[in-house]
Amino acid sequence: LLDRAELAPADPILGLTEAYNSDDRPQKVNLGVGVYLDESGKVPLLDCVRTAQQRLAADAKPIGYLGIDGMPAYREAVRGLVFGEESAVLADGRVVTVQSLGGTGGLKVGADLLRQLHPSATVLISNPSWENHRALFTRAGFRVDSYRYYEPALKGIDVDAMLADLRSAEAGTIVLLHACCHNPTGYDLTPEQWDDVIAVLRERDLMPFLDMAYQGFGFGVEEDGAVVRKFVESGLSFFLATSFSKSFSLYGERIGSLSVVTGSADEAKRVLSQLKICIRTNYSNPPTQGAALVTTVLGDRELRATWESELAGMRDRIKKLRRKLVSGLEGRGIGDMCFIQEQLGMFSYSGLTSEQMIRLRQEFGIYGTDAGRMCVAALNDRNVDYVADAIAAVRH
Ligand code: PMP
Repeated sequence: LLDRAELAPADPILGLTEAYNSDDRPQKVNLGVGVYLDESGKVPLLDCVRTAQQRLAADAKPIGYLGIDGMPAYREAVRGLVFGEESAVLADGRVVTVQSLGGTGGLKVGADLLRQLHPSATVLISNPSWENHRALFTRAGFRVDSYRYYEPALKGIDVDAMLADLRSAEAGTIVLLHACCHNPTGYDLTPEQWDDVIAVLRERDLMPFLDMAYQGFGFGVEEDGAVVRKFVESGLSFFLATSFSKSFSLYGERIGSLSVVTGSADEAKRVLSQLKICIRTNYSNPPTQGAALVTTVLGDRELRATWESELAGMRDRIKKLRRKLVSGLEGRGIGDMCFIQEQLGMFSYSGLTSEQMIRLRQEFGIYGTDAGRMCVAALNDRNVDYVADAIAAVRH
């Protein structure tokens, strides 16, 4: 039987990291994977998380199973964070929230449920999108297509094209939307453009699935979460996957959530019962530690303030690195890449061609994706000049 297994290609992003790891040039830079690195080039351990770890260790508890949908206090904390403590949909019992294995786990459980409810639906993702979106929804059994989003000539979003594609979608189509800090481009819709998108989703009876993996990396926790509130106000039902991988620097804990905003408390109850089956038959129930850490931080006024300021620190530092890269490029005669400082989140769509990206890799040991995506959150004061030199070299 096993001889039937064909060798699959390496994951495009994780494959880059493997290539980076086996590169022995000391000046190499990994701009491939979406991880925030601090000035020393390491994944940071946030102070709020360290304190929460210490508190949990000092009051060590047995590690029993969580419920299928996760830790109740965690779910409450997440709901407050993304919907707002006073949200009427929460009070009405219309929102179902389950703890998930990172943002990816939330997307997958949501995809499995949607597939069960509407097996013939098409899923539309942005062109381009996080590469795992297509793979994940395809694997869940859907046909995956895309709507137009990034337009190279505009160095931004072609909103008219996006709206036109959504308008021509069949009723019931699932539309995957990045709530903030679009991966890979770094270009987000404005609040007015979101209103236009919501109007089309409603008009065409489409099912929105929001993916919010970077809450707090755009403008702030509240500001970035405003998109979710817009959807709530619209009265539409929708799916929302969130992640604490980046915002808490808890990548390996696999901690995120899936919420489904339904039309009624009764519908919510039925949806939850189905979600529990999806979870139970996949991994039974989620792990405890990540949920305990996030709940400890969000539930303590002081730790929460520390978190918000540490998150602001990561956000501001990325913005500073963007400015530094742009001014470094300008100093090397590349004056047309200032869009990098307008983009949001960890990524920058650099506009470099795949040949240029390959040259960056081969000649300089700088690893980004062939599509030109670079993780600017992996720059630091020591490598930013080297990266600017290398980009200037491949551009000239
Ligand atoms: N969605 C997007 C757009 C992402 O960029 C990522 C992480 N790269 C995820 C979801 C998944 O995040 P997690 O690591 O929490 O599964």
